[in-house]
Amino acid sequence: MGRSLANLDKAFNSFFKKQAKYPKFKSKNRGGQSFSVGAFFCKVKATGIHLPLLGTIKCDVSLLPDEYKLLSVTVSKNASGKIFISLNILTDISDPIIDTSKPIIGLDFGIKTFITTSDGGKYEHPKPFRKYQLKLAREQRVLARRKYSSNRRTKQKHRVAIVYEKISNIRQDFLHKLSRKLVGENQAIYVEDLNLEQMKERFGRSINDLGWAEFVRQLSYKGLWYGCEIEKIDRFFPSSKTCSKCGWIKQDLTLKDRVWECPACLTEHDRDINAAKNVLEYGRVDRNSRAGREKFSLNREAQRE
Ligand SMILES: [Zn+2]
Repeated sequence: MGRSLANLDKAFNSFFKKQAKYPKFKSKNRGGQSFSVGAFFCKVKATGIHLPLLGTIKCDVSLLPDEYKLLSVTVSKNASGKIFISLNILTDISDPIIDTSKPIIGLDFGIKTFITTSDGGKYEHPKPFRKYQLKLAREQRVLARRKYSSNRRTKQKHRVAIVYEKISNIRQDFLHKLSRKLVGENQAIYVEDLNLEQMKERFGRSINDLGWAEFVRQLSYKGLWYGCEIEKIDRFFPSSKTCSKCGWIKQDLTLKDRVWECPACLTEHDRDINAAKNVLEYGRVDRNSRAGREKFSLNREAQRE
């Protein structure tokens, strides 16, 4: 869609200059700009989307569902200058059937390995992601040296925005493919609902979310679409330090210990796989006790009648 919209870029800019009041700017300096148009003024055609003043914008509309109601269309330009069109639509999604022959897994989030599954799967951030992170740091250092409101600063800002976008694209692509894969392969997934305090405890220092929250968000809505239950375990427990076989808690386990042997049952553990197994086990217990509680209250009601 990007190239076919190159012309729109011009139209978009002049559109804004002439029409100061409508549509509204969000902020001139924040990078991204956008405006929305009500469905009444737009038309979805076979070749694209027709907007007032801008004409038909070529894009692939084949991904739209067969039946839907168009609510509004938003045109936005991001900090690196790319233009996007998003459609706000209303459509029915039928409830998916959960395939109970599929496995149930637990997930462990980590720094080195982004996700480890209880069945031994390990998923690391893609390499370009790291490469661009270093590049971003470099470009930002350059930006910090540029004088305010200078031409070179504006240019450098654009450069930083492009690197940001690359990182964001690689990251989103990775998260989307992985969340779709896991949701498709399993009937239920247990994850820890980590807050910042817990992350500090787990990783020994203040750490920014490396995409876990976004990943859990994607799992949750895709789970609803494709039939996989996502359950968050919201109580804190030492998932890394607990032996998943016998329940022994190894208090002196340090962050450096990637592999450890349980002093009680002598099982050798991969740190992350062991943690993921514990998340799965806690999830199961949680689920069973919940089912047990429901059963109990049903029985009580039955007794009263
Ligand atoms: Zn043990």
